[in-house]
Amino acid sequence: MAIISSNIDDNEFPLRKKELRLVDSKIIPEEKRNHKINLARPVTFREFIGQEQLKSSLRIAIDASIYRKEPLEHTLLYGQPGLGKTTLAFLIAHEMKTKCRIATAPAIERPRDIVGLLLGLKEGEILFIDEIHRLNRLTEELLYSAMEDFRLDLTMGANRGARCRTINLPRFTLIGATTKLASISSPLRDRFGISQKIEFYNNDELKQIILNFARLINLNLDDEASHNLSRISRGTPRIALRLLRRVRDYAQVVTKTNVISTNLVREALNSFQIDEKGLDSLDRQYLSFLKQNNNIPIGLDSIAAGLGDDSSMLEFVVEPYLMRIGFLMRTPRGRLLTDLGKNYIDSNNDNF
Ligand code: ADP
Repeated sequence: MAIISSNIDDNEFPLRKKELRLVDSKIIPEEKRNHKINLARPVTFREFIGQEQLKSSLRIAIDASIYRKEPLEHTLLYGQPGLGKTTLAFLIAHEMKTKCRIATAPAIERPRDIVGLLLGLKEGEILFIDEIHRLNRLTEELLYSAMEDFRLDLTMGANRGARCRTINLPRFTLIGATTKLASISSPLRDRFGISQKIEFYNNDELKQIILNFARLINLNLDDEASHNLSRISRGTPRIALRLLRRVRDYAQVVTKTNVISTNLVREALNSFQIDEKGLDSLDRQYLSFLKQNNNIPIGLDSIAAGLGDDSSMLEFVVEPYLMRIGFLMRTPRGRLLTDLGKNYIDSNNDNF
């Protein structure tokens, strides 16, 4: 069984070879296609675990729009991959009793792509654009009048023969999702009436998400097993659900059972080379590299060169979790292992 799967977006991390990780929050092809996984998407606010603050703000905005019989204001959702932005877009559509049409910014290449999407919308529908920070400038400019006045201002022809044409659009809601708020231009950002951050989940919330999914796929998971899985899921539902599916594979193939105990979780994760802290081999290589540097701060580019990896991949995928568990510090002079990080490596040295 391939332990680490195709979860790196080649466009964002172009140098990285096809080495794939279970504990990466980016979506993998299996998760795009799998009907059962998509069924796991919560469709009501009650089923959507955690994010209480965000849910209550959205609830008020949705109820107010329903009361005024207007579409919801354009909404920007930002946060790390796998935290529930797409799920929330569907959930909002469900609550507004309308349809949600999905697009990703890199796929909207030419002006006619966005024009087609906008002209295909009906009154009150939602257009969800994922990775909205990656829209090109022309597309973005077309969106300004569409968002503000529900109008498309198109220039037909070129040079002297150029004419302007205005097309009215139905009133719609744009939901933009991004992992990089700072990369969105301010004219675009200012056109969103609602802007909400999605936070990482705590262990209790992840445990609840894991238990709900286990019920859906008929797994009998004990309390400690679900707690252990939640602990290593990096605050991210997508990772939690992926780890659970891999543990289920292991249980069904190796022990021929649907009953998942703590021991079985440990065995399965060991077989995927994920340790009790939730670190995989790439995390460990990264930490060992810093350790070899004898506690002198080291720049990201040097680490990337040393490991043969892409620096943005390390910065956005590997480092955030190592910092959250207190193993790594980013200083102005470079990256440094903390005492906790050093102890971890010393006590696991044999395994590297
Ligand atoms: P994003 O769009 O932010 O990358 P998704 O909406 O695709 O993330 O969510 C990833 C997975 O995690 C989905 O399978 C979804 O069902 C699940 N999920 C996300 N947030 C929650 C939540 N709050 N409660 C339950 N499941 C969730």
